[in-house]
Amino acid sequence: MSRVFNFSAGPAAIPEPVLQQAKEELLDFRGTGMSVMEMSHRGKVFMEVAAEVERDFVALLGIPANYKVLFLQGGGKGEFSLVPMNLLRGGKRADYVDTGHWSAMAIKEAKKYCEVSVIASSESQKYTCVPPQSAWKPNPDAAYRHICTNETIHGVEYHWTPVVADDVPLVADTSSHILSKPLDVSKFGCIYGGAQKNIGPSGLTFVVVRDDLLGHAHPLTPSVFDYTQQAASEWMLNTPPTFAVYLAGLTFKWLQQQGGLAGIEKVNIAKAELLYRTIDDSGGFYRNDIARADRSRMNVPFVLQDETLNAAFLEESAAAGLAGLKGHKAMGGMRASIYNAMPLAGVEALTAFMRDFAARKG
Ligand code: PMP
Repeated sequence: MSRVFNFSAGPAAIPEPVLQQAKEELLDFRGTGMSVMEMSHRGKVFMEVAAEVERDFVALLGIPANYKVLFLQGGGKGEFSLVPMNLLRGGKRADYVDTGHWSAMAIKEAKKYCEVSVIASSESQKYTCVPPQSAWKPNPDAAYRHICTNETIHGVEYHWTPVVADDVPLVADTSSHILSKPLDVSKFGCIYGGAQKNIGPSGLTFVVVRDDLLGHAHPLTPSVFDYTQQAASEWMLNTPPTFAVYLAGLTFKWLQQQGGLAGIEKVNIAKAELLYRTIDDSGGFYRNDIARADRSRMNVPFVLQDETLNAAFLEESAAAGLAGLKGHKAMGGMRASIYNAMPLAGVEALTAFMRDFAARKG
């Protein structure tokens, strides 16, 4: 068996020890004689798994006691609707900052439910930066203020947390960099995302929401998507995706072994620095146009100056065991997603390949 270095944007690489443990436990989970997938979500064994998964997530992020954690379904895109359904709380308007493809998607969905004010946008700069907070035009009567803290396609990341001067809760789509670095959850009213980048398999989502925002879901909100009802039933209102929850738990244990979020952040910084340095030092052979201060540590899009070399780059990199480097169709070129599960050795292999390719074709 040979495993590749997988640079896919999501579903993405999962740490190999996690997959190994899941393999070992697959047929007989904790002496039950059945797989964790085959047992009741309300039975003692799975209830223990679920409680531990939640405890470890809370511990990793240092989530304060006045927040509820929910593991739900419906994907990141589903969450775009759940936010206004749950957090408008009778309000008519929400603020959104537009930093790329995923904030634009969130805006599109929110418009079905309320008046959306786009209070800052980097669209005119082709989404190459995060608008500084000094340029935002916030509305004090907004029900919440929404940001996407890492734009998976454009490769733009907030390396700072906005300061909320009014009482408007800050809400963030953190799908593609959750658990990649410490995060002060207390600065947010709600953070959410899909699991398929840094947590585990697709089909699972997470919501971390402050207590005082609960209790006001729109009456037409499906019960399974009502944060308050799911919080009251400890996210067991319906059957959760049990295997995905279990695998998320193994990933959390793995992260603890990496020194938690401070430990993994060091590796993530080293990986990102190496890759951006390789691009910047290539004499224009490779290019990334994102403002340096806002470059994502997780998703690194880059283009080849000579686009006729794209096919050869993809073919040769794949042959070298470097998978999933084709850029998103909206951006063209290449994208290397270097989430938590990508070891430094993977980025070393990628950058060695990139230097060699440039030397041969440049
Ligand atoms: N938000 C972000 C930041 C994402 O990267 C994605 C998916 N790549 C989504 C939302 C949508 O997630 P899903 O495909 O699970 O609906």
